Amino acid sequence: MIRERHLFGPGPSNPYPEATRALAEPLLGHLDPEFLRIMDETCDMLRTVWGTDNARTLPLSATGSAGMEAAFVNTVHPGDVVVVAVNGLFGQRMTDVAARCGAEVVAVEHDWGQPVDVDRVLSAHPSPAIIAAVHAETSTGVRSDIAALGAGKGDALLLTDAVTSIGGIELRADDWGVDIGYAGTQKCLGVAPGLAPFTINDRAFERRVEKPRSWYLDLGMLGGYVGEAGVKGGQRTYHHTAPTAMVASLHGGLTRILDEGLDAVWARHQEAGDTLQAGLQEMGLELFAAEGSRLPELTTVRVPDGVDSAGVRKELLERHGIEIGAGAGEHATSVWRIGLMGRNARPDAVLLVLAALEDVLDRA
Ligand SMILES: *Cc1c(COP(=O)(O)O)cnc(C)c1O
Repeated sequence: MIRERHLFGPGPSNPYPEATRALAEPLLGHLDPEFLRIMDETCDMLRTVWGTDNARTLPLSATGSAGMEAAFVNTVHPGDVVVVAVNGLFGQRMTDVAARCGAEVVAVEHDWGQPVDVDRVLSAHPSPAIIAAVHAETSTGVRSDIAALGAGKGDALLLTDAVTSIGGIELRADDWGVDIGYAGTQKCLGVAPGLAPFTINDRAFERRVEKPRSWYLDLGMLGGYVGEAGVKGGQRTYHHTAPTAMVASLHGGLTRILDEGLDAVWARHQEAGDTLQAGLQEMGLELFAAEGSRLPELTTVRVPDGVDSAGVRKELLERHGIEIGAGAGEHATSVWRIGLMGRNARPDAVLLVLAALEDVLDRA
């Protein structure tokens, strides 16, 4: 599927070289002390990119969607009211997952392209057990204010999807009052898909479901997988075989990010996104996401009238080796999604995608 070095789609992006290099190393056994060191360091680095001190911070051996499932299956007791902010595909997915876990879901619907309306979400129910929201909606290119939800959550737990924000834009789980969070590796962390960086604080862990309806994602059992509840150097108990190569790859990607510096990485994403969005508008294209809430790492553009959305994407891929995404849901053919995540968030990539899109549109 990777035809060229350049991939800008919202899915797996061009990874950081440190992450791919780690995949080529000889495999380590999952209980090899060297691997345990790599796992400990990976959990430490995850705490940094999450902005948390939570002891229970680990890479779940599954994709971001399983992170979502772990978040709900461990915290939703039957009949619990779960308020979900829905402003795109992934908020919608949360309502489905929460309902399957036995929640009474209160979905607060928004027009796609708009950020979460904090007042509406906080007043949707007088005493929800959980308030859930997506920080960076990859389906629409919108950022929402998680800190404001955290400030007003009351006794509820705040559950946050940070799949597309982690390692790309400011994320401060503890300062913002996030109790449970899940993420993915293949977005701004610039690592292959397959792991879900997960974090849960003591408050949420104490309220967890004793025997969740998932064996694999039971956080009570997963504690031992990374040492006592994720505490460095704690006792390991076998739970499942750690995907050692994937964890080593995540370790490589995180090392790369922290060497550059998290603030510098965020600034690099912001600059790339700002330049792309300004360039697209100079070309006469209209952005889809609400002004003031646009993600730098995922830009949504309206497909101009009369232009064949799929045809342009195909030309970009075949002629320039650049993949951009189609829109999501009802916007499948009317919106494009251009990702500048991880290693792709750089000035030369911006210029390349702008020039290539101009070329393809000129020829259309
Ligand atoms: C990609 C994504 C997911 C799902 O992650 P997978 O790794 O595809 O399972 C969930 N939420 C958001 C916001 C995403 O962008």
